[in-house]
Amino acid sequence: MNPILPYPPFNYAAAPTETPYYIIDRALIRRNMRTLEYIQKEAGCRILLALKAFSTWAVFDEMEPYLAGVAASSLNEARLGREHFSKTKDVHVYSPAYSEAEMVELCKIADYIVFNSFQQWQKFRPLLESCGRKIQVGLRINPEYSEVSLEIYNPCTNRSRFGVRLENLVDLGEDALDGVDGFHFHTMCQQGSDVLQRTLEVFCERFEKYFHRIKWVNFGGGHHITRMGYDIEHLINLVKSFRERYGLEVLLEPGETHVLHTGLLISTVLDVIENPNGVDVAIVDVSASAHMPDVLEMPYTPEILNARRAVEDVEGPLAEGAHKYIVGCKTCLSGDVIGEYMFPRPLQVGDRLSFEDMSQYTICKNTTFNGIQLPSIVSCDSDVPGGNFQVHRKFNYEDFKTRLS
Ligand SMILES: *Cc1c(COP(=O)(O)O)cnc(C)c1O
Repeated sequence: MNPILPYPPFNYAAAPTETPYYIIDRALIRRNMRTLEYIQKEAGCRILLALKAFSTWAVFDEMEPYLAGVAASSLNEARLGREHFSKTKDVHVYSPAYSEAEMVELCKIADYIVFNSFQQWQKFRPLLESCGRKIQVGLRINPEYSEVSLEIYNPCTNRSRFGVRLENLVDLGEDALDGVDGFHFHTMCQQGSDVLQRTLEVFCERFEKYFHRIKWVNFGGGHHITRMGYDIEHLINLVKSFRERYGLEVLLEPGETHVLHTGLLISTVLDVIENPNGVDVAIVDVSASAHMPDVLEMPYTPEILNARRAVEDVEGPLAEGAHKYIVGCKTCLSGDVIGEYMFPRPLQVGDRLSFEDMSQYTICKNTTFNGIQLPSIVSCDSDVPGGNFQVHRKFNYEDFKTRLS
């Protein structure tokens, strides 16, 4: 992961609740929102929040004013977006396939529905056209170009189920696009504007002959806009020149970038195990598997505030005389280990460990695997004296039980 802007010097571990908890800093969300606002203004595009990455509605009031709407991947997410974003904002939906029951409900609340295939569009076309509201219809395109090397995150492999390929379109003929208002592609993951540029070149070369039939193109998510070093001016130029060249509206629907570097997961060290055969282990009251699954799925090692990952190239004062620990979790899964770290002093039971950059793809992916405690959801505002700590949600036995039966 790239180094990102540092967290403000602020005591995030002072929230008035027990660990574990996620703490989201409203000031840092606003910082990201101002970047997205600038891009929308300069590039003349609209930016949506992909709810799949972050759906903590307790802080949506910090985001809604800056954004054009939400991108939902299910009826549940669409409903959440409709409830928490004002009527002037759009609810976009894309799903690899819709059920009949889902579509009936979506027709009441969605402003844009993106279909993954012609069959699904044809199947639901009568429903959409008779529902009494104008719903923008999009078609997901598979440009068959992606620079994502990890198979699990690559939507353009030969086996991909995502989107209409050029050959499908050629076979069906241009009239198949009758009633389609826009195209959608999503081929990126945590990438820069250079990847978008190369993707757009391929996308345009293959599909521009159809552009006269549509009004908008959604460039999907995966744009790591708020990461330090992202070339914002390059993105603006790409969007502007695409709009000017083709006369099409442009939408972006990243998720992660809205909340990049805005939240921590605060945990407590419950025990320290001496390991005569190697590195000592600290056990914390959170789980990679249940609370930060990308640590295992991607995989990656998150940063811990005031510690360093014990990677080969550790330099500087911490490396010398630093104390090395494996940080492991409170579940029975052997692989539920977060990583190896260097701490400035020996760890003790009761120490707080704050995992960085934990807003995205965490809270919305949590499970109660092992019956483990779900972290509370807390917000703060490091711009406000006192920090405006708010504990939005605590979870208990009932929450565990009622998801089972
Ligand atoms: C996952 C996803 C997004 C958001 O991706 P990020 O990597 O969080 O920016 C947007 N659109 C679609 C279709 C997605 O599947």
